[in-house]
Amino acid sequence: MMTLRRLTALALSAALALGAVPAAAQDAGAPPAAASAEAPARARNVILFLADAAGVPTLSAASLMAYGEPLRLHVQTWPHLGLSETSPVDDFVSDSANGMSAIVTGVKTRNGVISQGPDAVRGRTDGTPTKTLLEYAEQRGLLTGVVTNMAITDATPAANYAHANDRSKWGEIFPQAFTPRFGDGVDVLFGAGRDEIGEQLAARGSGFDALSAAHDRPIYAALDAAPASNLRPVVVADEMDVHAATLRALDLLQRSPTGYFLVVEWDAHTDDPRRGLQNMVDLDRLIAEVQARVDLSDTLLLFTADHSFALQVDGGRRGQPLLEGYDAWKASGGEGEIVRLENVVVNDTHTAEEVPVLAIGPGAEGVRGYFPNTRLFGVMMDAWGWTADATPSNEVRRGSSRP
Ligand SMILES: [Zn+2]
Repeated sequence: MMTLRRLTALALSAALALGAVPAAAQDAGAPPAAASAEAPARARNVILFLADAAGVPTLSAASLMAYGEPLRLHVQTWPHLGLSETSPVDDFVSDSANGMSAIVTGVKTRNGVISQGPDAVRGRTDGTPTKTLLEYAEQRGLLTGVVTNMAITDATPAANYAHANDRSKWGEIFPQAFTPRFGDGVDVLFGAGRDEIGEQLAARGSGFDALSAAHDRPIYAALDAAPASNLRPVVVADEMDVHAATLRALDLLQRSPTGYFLVVEWDAHTDDPRRGLQNMVDLDRLIAEVQARVDLSDTLLLFTADHSFALQVDGGRRGQPLLEGYDAWKASGGEGEIVRLENVVVNDTHTAEEVPVLAIGPGAEGVRGYFPNTRLFGVMMDAWGWTADATPSNEVRRGSSRP
């Protein structure tokens, strides 16, 4: 499945050093490793896949549910693996706001806070805005995109293009997509949440029409409603087809002469185990499709989660469905803090243990061992060969440099 042919000589040699690539792949047409051994391989493009709440147990269970065997997910074939620690500055367990903010800004903060430093007081006082990877990419003239099945203002997508002291302030968060601090702002924005975002905008005396008019940028209500001629489409729908949206975003971003940054989120909370695990499986299949459309010699693909979730497989056997008992649980209302199926137990909460990071492409070799989630900011910046600005929050940006 891996297009090893496309790995650059250096990425190939790095992978070989780690024993990740069969020696035969050396003959696959790449130039000799020595030819480019001096400079690290650089990424032109970075795609960050975020499976919300998909810890190690979720990946494991998704493979068992969909394929009846472990290790069948596409991302489980990627050569570079690390374990990312997700806690905020004060608690042990992270929410999506801190979790994603730390990944895309290199600064850990407080739960509920969107890409502001830990000097923020949730819901009350703004903290120092922390510059996001999307903002760095915009500043350098790359094309950027954010795709999610969730509301486009939900914490994970919002952390890329907005700064707010509370994740619930959708009426403040959404308009920031139209008033960027760097470049011309996020170029492709595909997400859901139309009704509630509309309500929150109305409460502030604004709305989709007013924003569209003020910024001369249509806000479509469905993916199909955005014409092909619009190269910077914004779609806020009732529901978003992440598969279609991601492929469309990729088509648009791949026109960039300077590279692109794309973030794709798909919710994988397993409070409803079948829904969460199926989302993980569908995202994994999408990732395989995306990988086939990019050149791994210039594109870094990175998969991770913002925090983990308390799902465990504690039974089951080959040849039998993993989610035995799910239909009865669902028929009984599907409620409760604890979901007890035959082979799976879910405690409906986020958990503190480290989450997997999988990577392939230039810069992927920076993903190894245990590290704080802030390191991922550094991994992506290093892949592009960029240096972070000096900021007042630098003292908490411990994870940003290479190990
Ligand atoms: Zn989350």
